[in-house]
Amino acid sequence: MDQQTFNLLMLAWIALAILLMPVQLFVTAPYGRHASRRWGPVIGNRLGWVIMEIVSPVALLAAFLWGGIPDTGVIWVCVALWIAHYMHRAIVFPLRIRTSGKHIPVAIVLSAVAFNSINGWANGFYLGSGWGGYPPGWGSDPRFIIGIAVFLAGAAINLWADGELIALRKHRESHYTIPHGGLFEKVSCPNHLGEIIEWCGFAIACWNLPALAFAVWTAANLIPRALSHHRWYAREFPDYPANRKALVPYVL
Ligand code: NDP
Repeated sequence: MDQQTFNLLMLAWIALAILLMPVQLFVTAPYGRHASRRWGPVIGNRLGWVIMEIVSPVALLAAFLWGGIPDTGVIWVCVALWIAHYMHRAIVFPLRIRTSGKHIPVAIVLSAVAFNSINGWANGFYLGSGWGGYPPGWGSDPRFIIGIAVFLAGAAINLWADGELIALRKHRESHYTIPHGGLFEKVSCPNHLGEIIEWCGFAIACWNLPALAFAVWTAANLIPRALSHHRWYAREFPDYPANRKALVPYVL
């Protein structure tokens, strides 16, 4: 594939994320607290997470190595960050969640497999293609340094918030309670906020279209999800703190 075709595909992929975001505002993906049996057959939640997420680092690595082994060190940093995030999401996160008796629709798992395959492939392919043309000094470019710092800050927020949510349940419990402390006093979903910040940082550090596409898709998935979580909390808990926002402190 030539670079122009690839770029056009990426622009179309970004446009699709933007077009589908309003749909996601009205149709909440049926997993976790929004799980529904109306979406067809289901599988265990933990297994679902492993299957959905493991394809991403596999697709990225396969596409990356397909084009040979680039000798630019910063590219390896980007690859390593992606793999670290997804090894955590595909293995550590599913092992940690307290998800006893919970299920996820196969339709959601299959759509996430497609989503993660496309994004993993596109990012790996581009980073391995040499099209980025990263100069030898890219490691000290402000975009790379700021991008990595933003990525790490987002990852820290995401990991902390997911850890707090998981700790709300004991082994074999499956009920929900109101989270408190830190960023939870300001927003309902700091884990989603952290994830969006993380992939914006990745896009800044990589400064390319597939990384931008993934940041846009992450926001298009998680802004509507955070809004639905927030509405759900307000509906389920009459004493839910009224000053809390859904995703962005004081704003949204
Ligand atoms: P949630 O916040 O819905 O859930 C995270 C975990 O905490 C789940 O195990 C959930 O249980 C549990 N939990 C959440 N709230 C409570 C509560 N109030 N009381 C008790 N337990 C609770 O996160 P998501 O499932 O939406 O996402 C999981 C991770 O995946 C996040 O880090 C998110 O950022 C990331 N993600 C990334 C996407 C992307 O496009 N890049 C898309 C989707 C998710 P249960 O499952 O039973 O609700």
